[in-house]
Amino acid sequence: RKSVVRITTGSQALDELLGGGIETLCITEAFGEFRSGKTQLAHTLCVSTQLPIHMHGGNGKVAYIDTEGTFRPERIVPIAERFGMDANAVLDNIIYARAYTYEHQYNLLLGLAAKMAEEPFKLLIVDSVIALFRVDFSGRGELAERQQKLAQMLSRLTKIAEEFNVAVYITNQVIADPGGGMFITDPKKPAGGHVLAHAATIRLMLRKGKGEQRVCKIFDAANLPEGEAVFQVTSGGIMD
Ligand code: ATP
Ligand code: MG
Repeated sequence: RKSVVRITTGSQALDELLGGGIETLCITEAFGEFRSGKTQLAHTLCVSTQLPIHMHGGNGKVAYIDTEGTFRPERIVPIAERFGMDANAVLDNIIYARAYTYEHQYNLLLGLAAKMAEEPFKLLIVDSVIALFRVDFSGRGELAERQQKLAQMLSRLTKIAEEFNVAVYITNQVIADPGGGMFITDPKKPAGGHVLAHAATIRLMLRKGKGEQRVCKIFDAANLPEGEAVFQVTSGGIMD
């Protein structure tokens, strides 16, 4: 039986909210408005995952699937320095791929599984997990097919988490107007419907606070304590 590894987010407050950090063997989803820190948390995890276990890292490599073109290797440098790590070595341990269609995204996962069988990975990031689905299935009659393909992708991610004992961190968008322009519903609602809700073990709702402050709340989890964590987005990544 594989044992869970908890990887620090860089913020003690956020780690405490999560019970120690983001966990291997499951999917952690972050959703929230633009600039709420989803991608910056991904960059921080790229580095912290490579820390040794006794420093709350995962002692493993990182795979990064980028569907929006927002990965910035130069952001990794100050984050690595903040953790006292060699930036080039950290960058060498991040396997990066840009996905252009949902099929491409799925095929990248198949390729990654082969790589993970050979090398010790501890984190898989998909930022954003849903953006390409919303582009590739944008027609009115395509929702059922989209949800079916999304379910397939998510079950692949769950399988990878369990088979290779990695943490899977995915980002999601909020639906501002699912009513097609007719009305504005709850702007905090994550996209992806029940398919995504059921796949993600932990759903983090991020929002902007004052200045560089960000606030994280655990969304919809009956078995986790209520509460919020406040953290900052800085040049050195996520911190208290
Ligand atoms: P989106 O939905 O658009 O993808 P997001 O939730 O991924 O948004 P991020 O890209 O993670 O948002 O956050 C962007 C914010 O992070 C910026 O607005 C800025 O406040 C902060 N940020 C980015 N880089 C730095 C930096 N080098 N130093 C300090 N803060 C930074
Ligand atoms: Mg982003």
